[in-house]
Amino acid sequence: MNSLLLTGGRVIDPANRLDTRADVLISQGKIVAVGADAAAKAPADVERMDVSSQVVCPGLIDMHVHLREPGQVAKETIATGTAAAARGGFTSVVCMPNTSPAIDNAGTVALIDERAAEQGIVNVYVTGAITKNLAGEEMAPIGSLKKAGVVAITDDGHCVQNNELMRRALEYAKMFDLPVLDHCQDETLGTDGVMHEGYWSIALGLRGWPAAGEEMIVARNILLAEATGARVHCQHVSAAGSVRLLREAKKRGLPVSGEACPHHFTLTDAAVAGSEKFIEVDGKGVFGLDASHGVLPSWPAYDTNFKVNPPFGSAHDREAILEGLVDGTLEVLCSDHAPHCDYEKEVEFDYAPFGITGLETELALSLMQLYHSKRLGLSELIAKFTVAPARLLHLSKGTLSVGAEADVTVFDRDRKWVFEKSGSASKASNSPFYGWPLRGKAVATIVGGRKVWTEQGELAKV
Ligand SMILES: [Zn+2]
Repeated sequence: MNSLLLTGGRVIDPANRLDTRADVLISQGKIVAVGADAAAKAPADVERMDVSSQVVCPGLIDMHVHLREPGQVAKETIATGTAAAARGGFTSVVCMPNTSPAIDNAGTVALIDERAAEQGIVNVYVTGAITKNLAGEEMAPIGSLKKAGVVAITDDGHCVQNNELMRRALEYAKMFDLPVLDHCQDETLGTDGVMHEGYWSIALGLRGWPAAGEEMIVARNILLAEATGARVHCQHVSAAGSVRLLREAKKRGLPVSGEACPHHFTLTDAAVAGSEKFIEVDGKGVFGLDASHGVLPSWPAYDTNFKVNPPFGSAHDREAILEGLVDGTLEVLCSDHAPHCDYEKEVEFDYAPFGITGLETELALSLMQLYHSKRLGLSELIAKFTVAPARLLHLSKGTLSVGAEADVTVFDRDRKWVFEKSGSASKASNSPFYGWPLRGKAVATIVGGRKVWTEQGELAKV
């Protein structure tokens, strides 16, 4: 394998508390040197990439992705999902077990590993189910899932409603040193809701889903984490009350954590009423960042690409998530990339499946809402995409330490661009962010020392 020298970039490696202008030398798939001596150590035939106006950081990790394979390959495949990840700047993804069949046995884990080795262009880590077929009735074989290599267990898409079963699962998971990730949703409170319960659900005549439906399970998880000592990680936190509960629990030293998705800290329930209403009511902080874009996105009311689980909350919820990210209550950023077919989404709002794609827009939206808005430094933001998920899931990733596998993301924090379907590698087109003026973009994604995606031509300009 050839050597690659990334020259002159701003190298940010939160795991090593590094933020400096430096060269990075990659050879034989590993990080060989970072700093002034990197160029001197490079062989004569080294390939050079000038990244002097870019940020160079450990390869980004998205720990919440639905790749839809096996069984739902009309929506996405490991090939297209990992291609979308690479375009978004992600070198590793963690896939959820709500496939068909579900990832509740060692055989399915092996199948995904095999496909990922053949067709994936970024690293694919697998999660196993907590319960068989994610039905919430009987525990999945957690020991054999661990042996097969899962990095965590979750029933994502569903939530274990039986508290006794959840307690036993936590005890098992602790024995096997597996983190438990939970999609927090009390089904008795959110049964038939299609959007956040509040002013807009009433105005639009849609069935509401109260924030307490999430908060209830976050509280349950905190109590069970305290009782069992097992780690519980709350997925895609969307409600202010959930953030508050997690903050208090962490203050008491309990083994709980949380993640947030860009759509939950960018959009609000007003977005379901269409772009005009959203921009008028809750969009100012988002679009007002830079008027020079000149274009504002437009979408109609009841657009099913704004139907997501959990639903977009109120502006108060959005602010609470941003605060939770800033004060460290929520330590992980991820997409909940959930591709669907066009025909599935082209139905009435009530009948459309929940979920939107996110791998290609999450870095830009995170930069806009956290960094460009001056809420969070670049290093703190990158940590939530690298060292934080790596530590949580015990992955040997998320750092540019010498000797580490050379997973590297190069991105332009200021690049202005507009997300279009034609520029997407995903098989699906259920994104609410088409036509959005975005700021910040990955320009090169390097996995194990190999450039799996670069923005050719544009890179040459820098
Ligand atoms: Zn979920």
